[in-house]
Amino acid sequence: MTATATRVLVLNSGSSSVKYQLLDMRDGARLAVGLVERIGEETSRLAHTPLATGGDKRETEGPIADHEAALKAVAAELSADGLGLDSPELAAIGHRVVHGGLKFTEPTVIDDAVLQEIERLVPVAPLHNPANLTGIRTARALRPDLPQVAVFDTAFHTTMPEYAARYAIDVETADAHRIRRYGFHGTSHAYVSRKTAELLGKDPSEVNVIVLHLGNGASASAVAGGRCVDTSMGLTPLEGLVMGTRSGDIDPAVTFHLKRVAGMSEDDVDVLLNKKSGLVGLCGDNDMREIRRRIDEGDERARLAFDIYIHRLKKYIGAYTAVLGRVDAVAFTAGVGENAAPVRAAALAGLEEMGLAVDADLNTVRSGEPRLISPEDARVAAAVVPTDEELEIAQQTYALVSA
Ligand code: ADP
Repeated sequence: MTATATRVLVLNSGSSSVKYQLLDMRDGARLAVGLVERIGEETSRLAHTPLATGGDKRETEGPIADHEAALKAVAAELSADGLGLDSPELAAIGHRVVHGGLKFTEPTVIDDAVLQEIERLVPVAPLHNPANLTGIRTARALRPDLPQVAVFDTAFHTTMPEYAARYAIDVETADAHRIRRYGFHGTSHAYVSRKTAELLGKDPSEVNVIVLHLGNGASASAVAGGRCVDTSMGLTPLEGLVMGTRSGDIDPAVTFHLKRVAGMSEDDVDVLLNKKSGLVGLCGDNDMREIRRRIDEGDERARLAFDIYIHRLKKYIGAYTAVLGRVDAVAFTAGVGENAAPVRAAALAGLEEMGLAVDADLNTVRSGEPRLISPEDARVAAAVVPTDEELEIAQQTYALVSA
């Protein structure tokens, strides 16, 4: 890496999409951001915004056959603004990798052995790791000489004690199939817990935080002195909170029942719990704005869906308060957490005995900055802390390659 190489390209490769951001690590500025969607279909779409040049968003539609074609199209867009993958200013590519198992506790420079290990984890992350691998392989083919770093969604949670991570099932069966709680959204939980400490004017090692990452996918974590001690997602991102389309916690016997009594197949149950449950299953909508609008119009199903969502959140806040013993802050983040004031108010309502409260005026302030929403005299701070997973991935990547 040359001394002038200060840029990091962050790639988040999904099964049919690639999201990317090019950042300048001197100040974290975004130079370009974009997205390729519907890869493999006739109607693929690439949207690219060259922020460095102040140019407008450019959108192109037309078939993009696979991830290789998608990355080549992205590289061409970047080149058009003088930000190409061949630029000497590019220091590294940081890849989001969903599942790192127990082995990857830190961001890791990718070599063939690392690729093999990510491949070995496909059975525990069948939806995500294959797409992440395709993105990595394609990027390596385009720039074989450039350091590429894997940043794992699971890594932040590898500090969980064994008694929090292990399910109470037969140990041999669990170990043979690597069944345990791994947790996800780790880069977000890491970033937000650190930013929350900063907001309180303290070092992360001094504070205990409950992070509520409420996006379309949602997860909670208990972070003690900067280390994750429990999190709501499990072997897969299905466990825990009520989400946009996922059920979260459910009696596992429901799945036997659906198969034995309702005659559903394994795949039917998978689709039901991952895609047709959560808010969408309960009321037909997964966008919290729409749900609030329907509630304002007196819609009972939307009201019940909201109440179920809040009830689950409260249970996790209570549980993690008990796990942590002392809580310094509860931090709300991601699409719902950052924007939905009624969700924050309802989640903390009635928890005054636990030292939690929301100031109605502070809660409705709109801002992209980390901010407190609790009254000044609250024993536990409540905060809105916008997440930035791309920046976290870029920072971890850059720290590793410039060390
Ligand atoms: P993900 O990254 O998991 O796809 P996000 O963190 O972007 O999701 O969150 C998306 C969700 O955030 C939307 O489904 C919607 O429910 C919610 N959301 C976004 N903006 C608002 C808003 N202004 N008010 C309420 N909810 C919002």
